[in-house]
Amino acid sequence: MYMLHSCRNAGLSAVVLERGSGVGGTWYWNRYPGARCDVPSLEYSYQFSDDLQQEWEWSEKYATQPEILRYAEHVADRFDLKRDIRFDSLVTAITFDDSTNVWTTTLADGELIESDFVVSAVGCLSSANRPRFAGDEEFGGRIVHTGEWPHEGVDFRGKNVAVIGTGSSGIQAIPIIAKECSHLTVFQRTASYTVPAHNAPLDPDYVRNIKANYSTFRAKNMLTRAALGGDTPTGTQSASTVSDEELDRVLSERWNKGGLLFLGGFNDSMINETSNQRIADWVRDKIASIVTDERTARALQPDTVIGCKRLVVDSGYYETFNRDNVSLVDIGDKPIERFTPTGIVVDGEEHMVDIVVLATGFDAMTGSLLKLGVIGRDGLGLADAWSAGPANYLGLTVHGFPNFFMITGPGSPSVLTNVLVSIQHHVEWITRAIEHLRSTGQRTMEATESAQDEWVRHVNGVADLTLFPTCNSWYLGANIPGKPRIFMPLPGFPDYVARATDVERSSYRGFAFSN
Ligand code: NAP
Repeated sequence: MYMLHSCRNAGLSAVVLERGSGVGGTWYWNRYPGARCDVPSLEYSYQFSDDLQQEWEWSEKYATQPEILRYAEHVADRFDLKRDIRFDSLVTAITFDDSTNVWTTTLADGELIESDFVVSAVGCLSSANRPRFAGDEEFGGRIVHTGEWPHEGVDFRGKNVAVIGTGSSGIQAIPIIAKECSHLTVFQRTASYTVPAHNAPLDPDYVRNIKANYSTFRAKNMLTRAALGGDTPTGTQSASTVSDEELDRVLSERWNKGGLLFLGGFNDSMINETSNQRIADWVRDKIASIVTDERTARALQPDTVIGCKRLVVDSGYYETFNRDNVSLVDIGDKPIERFTPTGIVVDGEEHMVDIVVLATGFDAMTGSLLKLGVIGRDGLGLADAWSAGPANYLGLTVHGFPNFFMITGPGSPSVLTNVLVSIQHHVEWITRAIEHLRSTGQRTMEATESAQDEWVRHVNGVADLTLFPTCNSWYLGANIPGKPRIFMPLPGFPDYVARATDVERSSYRGFAFSN
């Protein structure tokens, strides 16, 4: 939506093609119970219009999916965006013509749309991962995916429910479903680390204060590694050297405050194994102190590097396992054998189920991009160009694909940040690049192969300095069988912004232009 607004401001004509029937993206599709943002509302919002950020009133520290969707609708209406958004428009191919330098986008109904530029805004977590299980076609109940939730909702009353998957989506849904259903069985392949949200209504004085100094608040956030939480700076100590008392003091303070900044209590949580282990041990003890059944508590204690898979933020997750109507089935060593018409079999035992909730995540970062069917210069398909991983330059452009831009593409900080900030940064960068082409009378710009190779080395080099590549996360594509194992996002927002700005200042170093 911001890209459209920005194009209009630059005097360009633009159309948005959207497969959904409404605006909101993630917040349009992910309507599962408990869906809520884990970045504070006052930060997870647009900042391109001061009027907008002054007039919109968020009700809670962390906004619910319906509230964010209302916000997206408000933005669309306020800036009159819908007249250039074509809903229910599924893109099946985007092809570059080398002789005319024109892109042709094909829609599912066969319509063709020509343009000079194509900007992908398909999102990083928008292609649902729906694993198949033996016998699932015989299952007599209902199977729903958190990322493609039925708009009319799902009635869990009186039902036996299974949730498969314990990432952010599962962990948000589980406490709410447990309260509604007859019995909930959680099928956990890998235990996640999750910290409490401590969500609450927003204090009007706090909001007034932020709104009076919104630009300073935003500017501070932009200087942090994840473009969020500028008012809670990263600790200055190493968790590897502090005393047990100091470790407990810092982590308790962060735990009690709640949210993603938990890992920022120390300056080396994600780069020092000893520090990470001490923090992980502290959280494991916390889990044991909350969950009363010892066997369940042990199964819920993760044994991976904390933060390696994305940290989860919850409301009453561990407490939910103290309910009589909730059981945990650990499928880490003994996977789901099969579905039957009435349930799910693990280790020879059938768990009776009426509704299965797949909280199994997404083909992240590249899934939706590759589904666009992009064909670049010389007939090169994006899927072929990326057979070994999503090589690109700045996370914004790909060699062989002139005038094709990606918002929050792989190779940029995207999912490691408050993504609204990353989106804004990319929209503005892309708009300036197009304006540069126009003002210099050139037709196309394309990343050079050498600039791209250097960028790929840079992204891998930064990731290798961290503990991120040490587990089977979706950041690495490890959740999708057969996907190349490459760490896709780039840690460190401020350094990234500086590099992207440098490229602009150097008249787009690393790009080739044509008339
Ligand atoms: P996810 O983090 O990828 O979690 C998927 C879960 O499903 C994992 O526990 C995974 O186990 C399990 N799983 C996948 N395939 C399976 C299979 N074949 N059999 C059994 N278990 C299987 O997905 P998500 O929870 O949808 O979250 C994805 C990302 O979306 C988050 O990390 C976050 O960035 C974003 N998100 C944010 C919010 C928020 O703002 N609050 C909410 C939801 C999502 P393994 O770990 O063993 O693979």
